[in-house]
Amino acid sequence: MTIFSKIVAGEIPAYKVAETVEFLAFLDINPLAEGHVLVIPKKEIDYLFDLDDETYAGLQIFAKIVATGLRKAIPCKRIGVAVIGLEVPHAHIHLIPMNNVSDLNFSRPKLSFTPEQLEATTERIKDALRI
Ligand code: 5GP
Repeated sequence: MTIFSKIVAGEIPAYKVAETVEFLAFLDINPLAEGHVLVIPKKEIDYLFDLDDETYAGLQIFAKIVATGLRKAIPCKRIGVAVIGLEVPHAHIHLIPMNNVSDLNFSRPKLSFTPEQLEATTERIKDALRI
């Protein structure tokens, strides 16, 4: 079972920002920017491009919805999109509020926020998605 399946199952906590029957979005635990979100299919498949077409398309549409709320919630020029997948073998899309190309540099030191800040960011994104 991947760490992300444990989040889906509620076995480990996460700052969840959006959820459907099939998909989940939550804050990355080691973010590159405030509001760095991971979007996953609940179905445990390692490689994004191994998803069946319906799940892949659904995930991309879910990512689009989450990105729209994210952009309203977090001041930034755009939401950057990245797929890495070298650490967690459970397909996921990174959505990262960005102002400069260097904001998408995964070799950069990660940021750290307090639980209160992460909770506040989560609420802002959820509020933006409710509108
Ligand atoms: P990748 O597989 O795309 O190389 O990296 C996996 C991403 O998942 C990393 O950005 C890492 O910070 C994040 N991550 C790893 N474990 C956890 C976790 O337990 N909870 C959360 N929210 N994010 C995690």
